Amino acid sequence: MADNSDFPPIEPAKVALSACCPRCGQGRLFNGISTLKPACSACGLDYTTVDPGDGAPIFVILIVSFLVVGMALYTEITYSPGLWVHFLIFGPLAIGLSLWLLRFVKALLISLQYRNHARPGVIDRS
Ligand SMILES: [Zn+2]
Repeated sequence: MADNSDFPPIEPAKVALSACCPRCGQGRLFNGISTLKPACSACGLDYTTVDPGDGAPIFVILIVSFLVVGMALYTEITYSPGLWVHFLIFGPLAIGLSLWLLRFVKALLISLQYRNHARPGVIDRS
């Protein structure tokens, strides 16, 4: 496996937008929509050590619900369309925005963990 000093630092925003490896910027981070690969195919970085946990879904729930519910309320108050319009517009919007944002936020959190050398806490008893 290559040393970290062999790679220039990759900006977290670039990693989040392109879902690329936080070390080399070449390999893909996900299989499918948001399933993490076991390792980078380009540099061999082990992805099993990074764990965004429940952080990404919480951000996605808060952001998407604020935006979509706000837009639905505005649309209802301003135009008073039928209920089917809300289902037709805001249902797919909530699903699509959630899937895209989940991938974005997950990649961003992984990139920040890698960049800041985040590790599980260890109690030093010496
Ligand atoms: Zn890599």
